[in-house]
Amino acid sequence: MPLRAIDENRSLWAETAAPRDPCAALSGDRTADIVIIGGGFTGMSTAYHMATRFPDRKIILLEARKIGNGGSGRNGGLMLNWVNGVEPGDPLRAKAIYDATREGIDGIAQIIDTHKLDVRWRRTGSMNVHTRARGAEEAAAEVEALNAVGVPLQFLDGKALSAQLQLQGAVGAVLDPTAGHLDGISFLNALLPVVLGLGVTVHENSPVVAIEEGARCVVRTAAGSVTAATLVLATNAYTPALGYFRDRIMPLHAHVVATAPLARTEWAAHGWGPAVSGFDDDLDRVSYGCMSTDGQLVFGGGVNGAYGYHFGGSPAFTGTADFESVERRLHAYLPEAAKTPITHRWTGPVALTWNRICAMGVRGAHRNVYYALGYAGHGVTLANLAGRVLTDAYSDADERWRGLPFYDGHEPTRMAWIPPEPLRWVGYHVMTRLTGKSPRKRGVRS
Ligand SMILES: Cc1cc2nc3c(=O)[nH]c(=O)nc-3n(C[C@H](O)[C@H](O)[C@H](O)COP(=O)(O)OP(=O)(O)OC[C@H]3O[C@@H](n4cnc5c(N)ncnc54)[C@H](O)[C@@H]3O)c2cc1C
Repeated sequence: MPLRAIDENRSLWAETAAPRDPCAALSGDRTADIVIIGGGFTGMSTAYHMATRFPDRKIILLEARKIGNGGSGRNGGLMLNWVNGVEPGDPLRAKAIYDATREGIDGIAQIIDTHKLDVRWRRTGSMNVHTRARGAEEAAAEVEALNAVGVPLQFLDGKALSAQLQLQGAVGAVLDPTAGHLDGISFLNALLPVVLGLGVTVHENSPVVAIEEGARCVVRTAAGSVTAATLVLATNAYTPALGYFRDRIMPLHAHVVATAPLARTEWAAHGWGPAVSGFDDDLDRVSYGCMSTDGQLVFGGGVNGAYGYHFGGSPAFTGTADFESVERRLHAYLPEAAKTPITHRWTGPVALTWNRICAMGVRGAHRNVYYALGYAGHGVTLANLAGRVLTDAYSDADERWRGLPFYDGHEPTRMAWIPPEPLRWVGYHVMTRLTGKSPRKRGVRS
């Protein structure tokens, strides 16, 4: 299988998806109760939960290109628990966070099950791998404390780990048996007819070019407008381009590669056990990988070149950066994989907050602009959870989420201020080149 031209920048998930006709673009002026901008996990999960809970409300979703065009259709496929930026501290608080994200994964499973969706996914566990002995020791103690309050993580020492996943240099891992892998495009494409069946109107190829806030918000595309009492920003890394959270969100371009399909019988020779959905590691430039349901080894991160920042935080892809260094990192971890050709390379936008903690809440003079964004590397779970959280906030039934570190609710956002350009661009590049680490404000302990 030849490597496709990178200019196409299509993910493995998009490339292998069943073709479908796009939903009609918006044309003319419409009214609705709720207008959602963005057709990724956040937008589609919000459409699903709002329409399920409020079947009489008119909901319109506007997507600039195709459903799954952003990170949701371009990610590494790991469906993980936990919230980036939060370090386990008090075990009971940590359990509350784990339980919240586990509800996110359970929610994905429930939608697939309820609507009998044909989705490529598995939930056979994912590992957070340790490359440093001290970190592994600390992780073992944390797992013990979390087990005591009912969090079902398992610590694997080097020997137990290599029986499941043979990553060179790994000294231990935390196995989360409730995590897994999700092909985002297959999920969103299967969810689309469900959402349409619930009465939501979806317009693809309808980029929003202007927003006028008010008691009724007006959202404009080149060919029409939607006026609605409630606006949902479901645009994650693209949100600053719409004029929101420019000083809170930093869009990076994450780089991912995938190998040609491996037969199941070849997985073990590559060091990949049959039960492992995926892994990530303990390094600042996180590596992550999963085995797709078709046996393609998907791998991203691991090196500076895997996380590009463009001046002004452009969410549009503007260059190839360093896929070869990502591939070298993959081959250092799994040397056998070097014998299998790489067939796919792609990038997608990731939204980082200064301390990596995502945010969900409501803002605006009329308290009618809902947002959920900044998921870093945990958006597969969190952006799917966001639909439920925002629907609860909209319904004034948000007790479940109050006090959790990602929930702003009706309060001013807790996302920290990020310096403006050109300081941001210079700071990012100086820091990453000198230290190999991404700049960040310390997160919080649970
Ligand atoms: C390479 C990569 C690897 C990743 N790996 C993982 C992983 O393994 N596990 C994990 O949990 N997370 C991962 N993530 C993060 C995760 O994919 C995202 O956090 C999540 O998909 C965000 O979902 P979203 O719906 O909020 O945003 P998106 O999926 O980005 O959706 C936003 C949508 O808004 C649309 N849009 C933008 N501007 C406009 C406009 N003006 N008008 C209309 N529509 C607009 C876009 O076209 C897009 O479809 C990864 C991300 C990338 C890019």
